[in-house]
Amino acid sequence: MRVPTELVPHCPVCGKPMTMNLRADDTFVEDAGWHAAAERYRDFLEAHQEGRVLYLELGVGGNTPVIIKYPFWRYTNANSRATYACVNFGETYAHQAIRDRSILIDADIDRVLEDLLGGQVG
Ligand SMILES: [Zn+2]
Repeated sequence: MRVPTELVPHCPVCGKPMTMNLRADDTFVEDAGWHAAAERYRDFLEAHQEGRVLYLELGVGGNTPVIIKYPFWRYTNANSRATYACVNFGETYAHQAIRDRSILIDADIDRVLEDLLGGQVG
């Protein structure tokens, strides 16, 4: 179960091995596409501060909770009709203040989606 060295992608500019775009250090890339997506996300959050809203969090770990997890908790707490749902394998939890409006599913996302769709996935 190892990736052959020749299959590891390398940077076309400096030749160094490439890695996923994670907020793990100062190399996180925020290009035009990222900013456009961030703006759509902000617009959605602003437009849905009232009424029935489901904050569905899929596979968000504890690495950068200030980006998705904590805002979702805050928005759920601020809207009594909102529900927070978290699907994660081994890291499902919610703040005490929104426990009664939280759905925590500790399982593999692929399996959860498969169950929801009646085995139509995969
Ligand atoms: Zn490079």
